[in-house]
Amino acid sequence: MPLKLIRNDITKVTCDAIVNAANSTLLGGGGVDGAIHKAAGRGLLLECMKLGGCKPGQAKITGGYRLPCKYVIHTVGPKWHGGKNGEKETLRSCYRESLRLAEAHGCESVAFPLISAGVYGYPKAQAFRVAVDAITEYLVTSDLLVYLVIFDTAVYQISEKLYGDIAAYIDDCYVEQHTDAQAERNRRMYGVESMPLASAPTAVPFIPEKSNEGTLLAESITAAFQITPEIPGERQPDDLEQALQQLDESFSEMLLRKIDEKGMTDAACYKKANIDRKLFSKIRSNRLYKPSKPTALAFAVALELPLEETKDLLQKAGFALSHSSKFDIIVEYFICHGVYDIFEINEALFAFDQNLLGS
Ligand code: ADP
Repeated sequence: MPLKLIRNDITKVTCDAIVNAANSTLLGGGGVDGAIHKAAGRGLLLECMKLGGCKPGQAKITGGYRLPCKYVIHTVGPKWHGGKNGEKETLRSCYRESLRLAEAHGCESVAFPLISAGVYGYPKAQAFRVAVDAITEYLVTSDLLVYLVIFDTAVYQISEKLYGDIAAYIDDCYVEQHTDAQAERNRRMYGVESMPLASAPTAVPFIPEKSNEGTLLAESITAAFQITPEIPGERQPDDLEQALQQLDESFSEMLLRKIDEKGMTDAACYKKANIDRKLFSKIRSNRLYKPSKPTALAFAVALELPLEETKDLLQKAGFALSHSSKFDIIVEYFICHGVYDIFEINEALFAFDQNLLGS
C-alpha cells in the first residue's frame, strides 16, 4: 500500500494507529505528544504509566481512547546533536519499529508525525527524508497504508533551488501557454503564425501551406495513427495492423503492455507508482477501467516513460497534460528532467499545494 503525505493535525486522522513522538518517560510532554494526550484523555496517561518508559528508536503501543484510532504507538526519536551520534539510524528505527508493531496488531493504516523534527531539533528537511526513506523501504514488503502527517506549513520545504527551478518552469509554461494561445488566435484570424495584434492586417485569407488535399489527408492519418513516414535507413514502424490494434488499446491494456516491455513485474510497477494493490487489480481485471489523472500519471512515472509516451498513456485514460495546470507542469518538469522518483515529485507537488501522484 502507498505512502501518503497529508497536511493535518494527527489527532484528527482516522486510521488504525497514530504514532506519537514521545519522550522516554512516555508520560506526556509538549508538541504532538501533548496534543495526543489532550485529545485521548486521561485513560491514555494511565496506560502509559504502566509501560515503564521507552528507549530512543523503540516503540510501545496503547489504546487510542478518545482518539479516532484504535491504537497509539509511542516511539522516542533521537535528540539532534549534530548528526554524528547515530541520530539517523535511531530515527529510521523509530519508523521501522512502529510499523512492525502496527502490523503485529493487525493494523492496516498508520499515521506518523515528523518524529524528532520539533523540540528534538532534527533538521526538518533531513527528518522528512529519513521518514520517507524508512517508510518506503518498509513498504517494499508490506501492504500497510501509511500517512506522513505534516502539521505546520513552515515545517516542510523542498530545497530552495528545486523550488526556484520549478517555480521558473511554471512561469515559463504559463508564458508559453499565453503566447501559444495568442499565436493560435492570430493564425485563425489572420492566417499568420505569429503577429502582434497591433500590427496584424485586417483581413488576410488563410492559405494552407500544402493545398494538395491528398497530402493533407495522408498526414492526418499518419498523425492519428502515429505512424512515422518511411525514412530510408531508419527502423521502420510496426505494421498498420499493429498500429490499428494499438489505437483500440485501452488504458489497462497499454499499461500492461508497457510493464511487459519494461521487463517489470506488476508488483514492482504499482509499488513504484505508489498505487494500492487492490486498485491495481481492478485496473488489471477491467480492460475499460478509467483511472484518475494522478493514478495514470503515477504509472507513467513508475514506467519512466518519456513525455510523449506519458501523453499517450494519459490519453488512453481520457486526459491530457495542460500548461494551464500547475499540477501538470510540475509533473512534466520532473519527466523532462528524467526524475522518476514518485516521492520526490510528490514532495514538490506538496510544496506547491497540489494533489499528489498515486492512488
Ligand atoms: P519531537 O520531540 O520528536 O521533536 P515534537 O512534537 O516537538 O516532537 O515535533 C514533532 C513534529 O510533530 C513536528 O514537525 C511538529 O510540527 C509536529 N506536530 C506538532 N503537533 C502536531 C499535531 N497535532 N499533528 C501532527 N504533527 C504535529
